[in-house]
Amino acid sequence: MYSGESNRKWLAGSALIVGIAMAMALTGLMIAAGEALSKEITVFIRVDDVFMLESDIQPQEIDSFLAVAERYGARVMLAAIPNRLTQVTNRDGEMARQLRAFHARGHQVLQHGFDHRCPFTQSTSWEFHNPDVDDGYTPEQIAARVAGGKRLLEEAIGAEVTTYVGAGYDNGLVVRDHEDLYRGVGFRVLTDQNVTEMYRDGDKGYFFGLRDYAWALTSDNYEEQLVMAQQSFEKAAASGRQWGIMFHDHFTRAAYNEGITLRWFGELLDWLTDHPDYQVIFRSIDEWMEYGSD
Ligand SMILES: [Zn+2]
Repeated sequence: MYSGESNRKWLAGSALIVGIAMAMALTGLMIAAGEALSKEITVFIRVDDVFMLESDIQPQEIDSFLAVAERYGARVMLAAIPNRLTQVTNRDGEMARQLRAFHARGHQVLQHGFDHRCPFTQSTSWEFHNPDVDDGYTPEQIAARVAGGKRLLEEAIGAEVTTYVGAGYDNGLVVRDHEDLYRGVGFRVLTDQNVTEMYRDGDKGYFFGLRDYAWALTSDNYEEQLVMAQQSFEKAAASGRQWGIMFHDHFTRAAYNEGITLRWFGELLDWLTDHPDYQVIFRSIDEWMEYGSD
C-alpha cells in the first residue's frame, strides 16, 4: 500500500517532468524555427565629413548622434578629415581626444581624404582627382599626402585606420582608377559611393556605396525620406545580407533643425530592430572583415 502510493506519486512526478521536458523541447524547436526564419542582416552606419569646418551649426559635436546609436548597440563609422586635426577643430587636442574615445567605444574611424578640398581650385567637391585640373599632384604626391593623413588619424586614435573613403566625387574614382595608389598607402578597404548595388572583390577590398537619406532633413520631407530608407533596406535584405546608410556631419549635430536628424535616426533604428522578418546586427567594416563576408 505504502509502496503503491509512493509509486503513484513517482509516476505523477515523472509525468510532470516529462511534460515539462516536452514543453521545453517544443519551445526549443519553435525558437530554432524562428531563428531559421529570421534572416540576419548586417547594417552599416557611416557619417562623413567629421568634423567639417564650413558650417555655422554650433556646437560642433557628434556625441548626441552616437548616443542614439549606442541605445541600440549600433556601431558608427566616422569618416574623418585628417587635416582637421591640424586646424581650429582640434584646439587643445579636443578632436583627437574625441576620436580616440569614439574608437574605444567600438565605433570605427575611417580616413576621408586629407583636406576634402582640391588644393588647385579650392572646390570641396573633389580633392585629388578633380577633372578640371590638368597639372595637379603626381600619384606619388597624392600618396604622400594621403599617407600623412593616415598617420595623423592613427596617432589620434592609437590604432590602425584600415579604410579609405575618398572626398566628394573622388570616392568613385579612388576605386576605379587609383586602387593601387591607395592600397600602396596601406588601406585594406576602399569604398565607392557611386556603387548602388552591394559588391566586393575576392579579398573583401571594395565596399558598397551608401546613400544619405537624411541630408538637410526638414519636417516636410521627414516621413518621405524615412520611407525611402526603409524601402531601400527591404530591397537589400530580400536579396542580400547587408545594408548601409550614411549621414553627413553637420546635419547630425543636435543643433541642426532642433535635433530633427537625431529623431529620424532613432525612429529608423526602432523600425530596424523591431523588424519581423530580419535580425539586424550592426557592424563596423572592421567587424565585418573579421566576421567574414562569405
Ligand atoms: Zn565628404
